Amino acid sequence: MAEEGVRTHQTVVVSNGRIMRIGPASQTPIPPGTTRIDGRGKVLMPGLGDAHAHLSTVGGGPALAGRALDLYPLFGVTTIRSMYTEPHHRPLLANAAGRVWPRVVVASPAFTGQSTPTPQAARDSVRKYKAEGFAFTKVLPGLSRPTFDTLAAESKALGMPLAGHVPAAVGLEQALQSGFVSIEHLDGLMEALLPPGTQAQPGFFGLGLIDRVDEGRLAEVVRQVKASGVVVVPTEMAMERYVSTDSGTALARRPEMRYVPMPLLQAWIGQKDNFARGVGVTAARAARYRALRRRFIRELHAAGVPIALGSDAFNLFDVPGASIVEELTAFVDAGMTPRAAIRSATVEVARLMNIPHVTGTVSVGAVADLVLLEGDPLLDLRQVAHPAGVMLNGRWLDRAEMDRRLRALEVPSTGH
Ligand SMILES: [Zn+2]
Repeated sequence: MAEEGVRTHQTVVVSNGRIMRIGPASQTPIPPGTTRIDGRGKVLMPGLGDAHAHLSTVGGGPALAGRALDLYPLFGVTTIRSMYTEPHHRPLLANAAGRVWPRVVVASPAFTGQSTPTPQAARDSVRKYKAEGFAFTKVLPGLSRPTFDTLAAESKALGMPLAGHVPAAVGLEQALQSGFVSIEHLDGLMEALLPPGTQAQPGFFGLGLIDRVDEGRLAEVVRQVKASGVVVVPTEMAMERYVSTDSGTALARRPEMRYVPMPLLQAWIGQKDNFARGVGVTAARAARYRALRRRFIRELHAAGVPIALGSDAFNLFDVPGASIVEELTAFVDAGMTPRAAIRSATVEVARLMNIPHVTGTVSVGAVADLVLLEGDPLLDLRQVAHPAGVMLNGRWLDRAEMDRRLRALEVPSTGH
């Protein structure tokens, strides 16, 4: 994924969790005693990354977070950026020995208007989180302008990049100049399409604005995003799942819901149906919203804005790892090539997390985070959904082992 083309008839030698050598199968010596994995007829690609993961939903507890971590590698995901941190996540991650869990980069606990009412509170918390080892500052909506400005300045001084939402009091243009490394959910982009002087009411990611946006402004917004160097993490299917006209009960019948504990699934059904009633989703508005979001993805990508894949799982009917293929497919439907879509889930995630030489690539010296597929994902993205095996830090799980682990994660069936 770091270069164009596909190399054929290669041998990849892994030792101590790293890729030691790559070369033509006929000329690459294999050290004695090496376990051989037969890749003939198969395609090796980098392990996938999820740039917008939630280890659990609010109040989900360690069991749900552990379930997310267990699930990811079984769908080929070897690296995640955790975007919502609760106190129990870090002790859980510190006890990862012996687990087959992805590499995790953890955001600070979120900064919201409630958690951070004053500039001083912002300054104190960023310092605390930096000292505790969090990798970046997570911004949620609701911060006042002075609080946000202090948060941005303090984060910058401490080398903590900002990631997350664009607070309404700040707006896209200012946010782009404030040290955001990534903007999630296309947040703030819809609002930036409003004619000048229009008041944007708070609501669901611009859904309420869809009848008032001026698409003539889109090129300028894309230009500003490109100039800022920010990475965009659309979490497209997560957003589309909210506004889809599918009922909660219908979504709950999807096969991957077998990995979702029943109380959470029940909560999602209620959440989905309430949401549809609350924001007045109609088929026409949902279609217009979806089309405009996908136009953003297409034009941001065409302008050279890095797009990183993020799923937003565990959120509404969004199962860690299982939702990645749908997100890749949405990117391709939006106008990206399959290679560009897969780059967004490999190279771009690693770059965003500042570990481009570690993972997201099949290269000598990189960690052996690899996915072996039965066929070429550049021809058929669905190949990604069902790997022949996954290697995580050099640890190999073949299909039988993956299936065994997946079965163990199924929730006792009560009808699906
Ligand atoms: Zn999220």
